[in-house]
Amino acid sequence: MGKMSPAKISKQQFANILLPFALDQVFTYSIPPDLNGKLTPGQRVIVQFGPRKSISGLIWEIHNEAPSYPVKAIQNLLDLDILITNKQKQLWEWMADYYLCSLGEIMKAALPAGLKLESHTRILPNPDFEAPEGLPEIEELAWLFLQKSPGTTIQDLAGILKRKNPLPIILSLQTRGAIVLEEKIKGGYKEKTTVILEIKSDLKNDEQIHSLLDQLAKAPKQLACLEAYLSVLSPQKWQVLQSTLQTIPGFSSSGLQGLVKKGILIKSNQPISRLFRQQKEIEPPKKLNEEQENCLSKLRQKDQRETVSLIHGITSSGKTEIYIHRIIDFLTDHKQVLYLLPEIALTEQIIERLRRVFGSQIGVYHSRYSDNERVEVYHQVKDPTSQIKIILGARSALFLPFINLGLVIVDEEHENSFKQYDPAPRYHARDAAIVLGRMHRAQVILGTATPALESYFNAQTGKYQLIELKQRYKSIPLPEIMLANLADGYRKKKMRGHFTPELLDAIDQALSNGEQVILFQNRRGFSIYLECDACGHVPKCRDCDVSLTLHKHRNRLVCHYCGFSIAVLSQCPSCDSTRLRTHGMGTEGLEDEISILFPNAKIARLDLDAARNRKAFSRILTDFDRGKTDILVGTQMISKGLDFKNVRVVGVVNADNLLHFPDFRSFERSFQLMTQVSGRAGRMDEQGLVIIQSFDPSHRILQQVLRNDFHAMYQTEMTERKAFAYPPFTRLISISLKHKDADLLARCAHHFAQALRKKWDYRILGPQAPAIQKIQKYHIRNILIKSGKGNEHKAIREDIRSIMVLFNQDKQFRQVIIQPNVDPF
Ligand code: ADP
Ligand code: ZN
Ligand code: ZN
Repeated sequence: MGKMSPAKISKQQFANILLPFALDQVFTYSIPPDLNGKLTPGQRVIVQFGPRKSISGLIWEIHNEAPSYPVKAIQNLLDLDILITNKQKQLWEWMADYYLCSLGEIMKAALPAGLKLESHTRILPNPDFEAPEGLPEIEELAWLFLQKSPGTTIQDLAGILKRKNPLPIILSLQTRGAIVLEEKIKGGYKEKTTVILEIKSDLKNDEQIHSLLDQLAKAPKQLACLEAYLSVLSPQKWQVLQSTLQTIPGFSSSGLQGLVKKGILIKSNQPISRLFRQQKEIEPPKKLNEEQENCLSKLRQKDQRETVSLIHGITSSGKTEIYIHRIIDFLTDHKQVLYLLPEIALTEQIIERLRRVFGSQIGVYHSRYSDNERVEVYHQVKDPTSQIKIILGARSALFLPFINLGLVIVDEEHENSFKQYDPAPRYHARDAAIVLGRMHRAQVILGTATPALESYFNAQTGKYQLIELKQRYKSIPLPEIMLANLADGYRKKKMRGHFTPELLDAIDQALSNGEQVILFQNRRGFSIYLECDACGHVPKCRDCDVSLTLHKHRNRLVCHYCGFSIAVLSQCPSCDSTRLRTHGMGTEGLEDEISILFPNAKIARLDLDAARNRKAFSRILTDFDRGKTDILVGTQMISKGLDFKNVRVVGVVNADNLLHFPDFRSFERSFQLMTQVSGRAGRMDEQGLVIIQSFDPSHRILQQVLRNDFHAMYQTEMTERKAFAYPPFTRLISISLKHKDADLLARCAHHFAQALRKKWDYRILGPQAPAIQKIQKYHIRNILIKSGKGNEHKAIREDIRSIMVLFNQDKQFRQVIIQPNVDPF
């Protein structure tokens, strides 16, 4: 853009506002005269949407092109500062374009709920606040009014105060801790405040205090309270938390009230951050060994500063220690660091490990943290004076407003929980992190013991720097891996429950040595269902195309896709036979079996249900870490990021479920998963033992896991991928179409595929019915596109977008839900 004359600026009377809807557009509003010249893209405003609803949106662009239709004016400016930066806008735009979604959907995903005021914003007074002397009259008026009518909206307050823009007043009261902005439906962000007591400034010397104590002889409660206050003062500091004072003998609220009334003690409210916890001892980083030093110096090479490096280092090679050293480099440079972890691996363990070195410079951003904590981290990241320089988080942390990002680490980069499936944006956080890194000219480090084939391919072809770590730290031997043959076990009648004699012996040994055991059981393919022995009928969900799962403890059959449930049947609904039997097994069942086989062992189970609750989740892990439990039974989530010192044996209960999952990635995933799980055995000094049970121990992938041969797996898989045109040789886009009416859906899916075939015939597969054809009454059809890269991919994405627009204009087809998923993985 060239120079702009002042005349032109004053003409910019319109703003395009982004609202958190799945609509593929921004909305134009006019800028009222009092806000003219004061608005910047990235600021939050309140606008009217629909007849009665006010909503907060983001200024996307400011311009002077009057639309051909009448527009409403922006109602209010919500923050003086911008909420999202230009770089964030760029990232959102890239994401909307690449992942075929709308900016509004990204806005929804990117901002913590407390920053998206989706209804009339209400203001609540803070009951702990006491108006200080010298509070401006208008603020006092507002404050008094709010005490009488808590929950008044910004709009109404403007009317009462007769101010068109009451925002400066509200912001000032907010900074003083006098009010909180609250959303009507969901709770908005509440600043946590605390009450602080301090003695009047001219009393701050021994002489004054002594005479004061004499004077108070007639008010024993006040005297006792003052003494209590004096007893907790630390040298040179006159401030005391009211909550601390309340715990001291001699405190009474009437005594305190008296002292405050006399102006001896002064009360004030101070916002306290939820982020800065009690500081523990800071430890220096560990001294690296030679291989680690080599790796670090490769990362430090000048020409690698703004590029991507893949660290392929076996489990326990000390990758985390290398990250720590590299983080220190960037902190010294006053840069910010983003450290991404897969959702389920975000355990207290890794947070604690980094806190030991970096203390309160770490901020955690993660869906298991409260929204208030997330809003606070959001503001800290945007604040150049904040002490938080490192953000540790799950995928959504890449939406934070970084101002000076120098380093992005994606740990366990192969993990598929980096991909968001639902709702849109269906993005892959590793890939988006690379884009983010490029925007900030930051270094990106991907680390893993089992790289994703794509990443390894990129490293092989020189797109990424490849760094390999081949030794475990201190050369602790890799675990011994054994394959136990389930077919043999059953034929020779040696099985007990689902356990081969090999696995049972190993568990027995470990337990009698006081060592621990992890049993891994894949979630997929493990569920218990009811089947009629007479006719083979399996009870299915009313609304989905899936069998109902037996929940023994609730004595019900439950659909895992929609929650529909019925009481356990005693008679077959199809043939009336009473010979109904249970089949399959879940983690619950496995836990039951183990407790029968090892009645003295303490057993815990970690699966999705347990992980929903952050407290329960970390308690299970801490108990195991401290040796309170002997055997941990779990799914995928026990395979990564965990580091237990006393685990001797890891058992994979059934490898075949993993291998035979119908997905082009199932071999790659099986290799990754089993290798990662094995890495949990014998981490400290003794060699661990891994036992993998399978009906087919000669399977290529199992043999490759046995030899820990990533390269062989890579070679054989790449040959297959090339032959069948799968990634990384192509890029996949899947399009899911959903509707309750099967016929309408079939027609729509057919037309959609036809429209694409006009130009991309050889790239299009389907429409096909997926493995589960109906979920919650919605029938599903999928179209799969195997696209080339670069320009072809872009052209296909554009075509998909235009076809979606066309279908949206069709009276019938517009009812069909169309969900594109780029790189569905
Ligand atoms: P990875 O991330 O590659 O699985 P970790 O970084 O977790 O490996 O290292 C495994 C264990 O070895 C950890 O307990 C770690 O503290 C320890 N370790 C790694 N490198 C060093 C080092 N240079 N000095 C001391 N301990 C180390
Ligand atoms: Zn039957
Ligand atoms: Zn269902």
